[in-house]
Amino acid sequence: MKHEQYDNSYNFGEGKKYLLVTFGCQMNEHDSEVICSILESLGYTAVFTAEEADLIIINTCAVRQKPEDKVSSLLGKFSPLKEENKDLIIAVGGCMTQQEEAAHYIKDRFHHVDIIFGTHALPRLPMHLEAAMSGRTTILDLEEDYADRENLTAAPTSSFKAWLPVIYGCNNFCSYCVVPYVRGHERSRISANIIEEAKTLTSKGYLELTLLGQNVNSYGHDLAGDHTFANLLTDLNNIEGLKRIRFMTSHPKDLSEELIKAVQQGENICEHFHLPVQSGSNRILKKMNRGYSREHYLELIEMIRCSIPGVSITTDIIVGFPGENEDDFLETVNLLKTVKFDNAFSFIYSPRKNTTAAAMKEQLSHSDKEERLQRLNQVQHAISNELNLQLENRTLEVLVEGPSKNKSAMQTGRTRTNKLVHFPGSPELTGKLVTVKITEAKTWNLTGEMKGDSN
Ligand code: SAH
Ligand code: SF4
Repeated sequence: MKHEQYDNSYNFGEGKKYLLVTFGCQMNEHDSEVICSILESLGYTAVFTAEEADLIIINTCAVRQKPEDKVSSLLGKFSPLKEENKDLIIAVGGCMTQQEEAAHYIKDRFHHVDIIFGTHALPRLPMHLEAAMSGRTTILDLEEDYADRENLTAAPTSSFKAWLPVIYGCNNFCSYCVVPYVRGHERSRISANIIEEAKTLTSKGYLELTLLGQNVNSYGHDLAGDHTFANLLTDLNNIEGLKRIRFMTSHPKDLSEELIKAVQQGENICEHFHLPVQSGSNRILKKMNRGYSREHYLELIEMIRCSIPGVSITTDIIVGFPGENEDDFLETVNLLKTVKFDNAFSFIYSPRKNTTAAAMKEQLSHSDKEERLQRLNQVQHAISNELNLQLENRTLEVLVEGPSKNKSAMQTGRTRTNKLVHFPGSPELTGKLVTVKITEAKTWNLTGEMKGDSN
């Protein structure tokens, strides 16, 4: 399918091959699907090794230092390829390159990079590719131009589940986080466009959509009229044929009773909340600028669990935030034990340039942070295991994602609560909703036997 805005351009990618490497979150994965769609409309086809490619694009992440380091190391690896193939184009985009300093670092250090583009440059990618092919010097596009995004379509990698962004950017400025700097201020998409896209995907056979935003709960604040995320969910719930609606991420400071009600009442809205708490200590939450207290967070959990039986709740935690002492850390451990999350994604605090937390005194040593991460993970693993054991002998709806990576006779899928399930079955079940009786529970996944096919 051709993008309307490229109608004047010729398919200069015809016969050429591209490799796309993606780091980071679901929003980045979605951006990569948009990049794929752009490239394919220009005639390019995907390959999976750098050696075969005429174009290599790296879509970067800046949330922590590790993914940034990986980009530098990849660029180092790709450099000899450029010596063998002078026509090879290398482009680096995304959150890391949206930062001036990082973009200039890449430009100065890796001379073989042709295009450096930020998070707002996707509509201009064809123009940059064309210019790079005609051999100009390094192209740098860090424009904060939010226009045109709505006209870009994505090429989803799956044929049965897709990402659906509802709000871009973030206004929250948590003191540790780089996202508001690299993704810009909040911009809600017009609800009619979201609903239209959801209907189109459903008509193509998509059964599951995950609504994306840094803080989906602030959806609509910047739109004229009375738009709330809860209303949007309810509208999407009414789309015939759409079986599962997920959403992430919910910010605890904006999670409303209205939203909990929408999930409770919407039969196609999955019973799962990803509600990052970050810390169990009020002192640290304040320094993080999160805008809620431990007590408020616990009230939300209570409200969710009372309203939605069987709901799963997952979270994100940062350990070793500047000034976090042993007591603060123990409050986080205690919060994990009190809430009993189905899963917690825990990260070592990583100082990010220009954020207020990076300038705070009392930065912890890496070994102290590492030690806390290990302790926290141990507690959480036992809790995840305990909650999963409660699912043994239960029969659950599973959306089949395909053969298991390790055992091809086993299929893998997810429950509505987002638990991973393995069961014996044929590959033809991929993309179908089935029911599975859970026979064995482990910390990370469940095993079961298929009972029926609900398609
Ligand atoms: N918008 C989402 C989070 C986006 S970033 C929210 O507010 O919940 C995903 C996760 O990365 C965060 O929840 C946080 O736990 C982690 N994170 C963000 N910045 C970080 C940093 N500087 N160091 C370590 N972890 C970080
Ligand atoms: Fe970062 Fe906070 Fe915005 Fe999430 S809400 S993206 S953690 S600033």
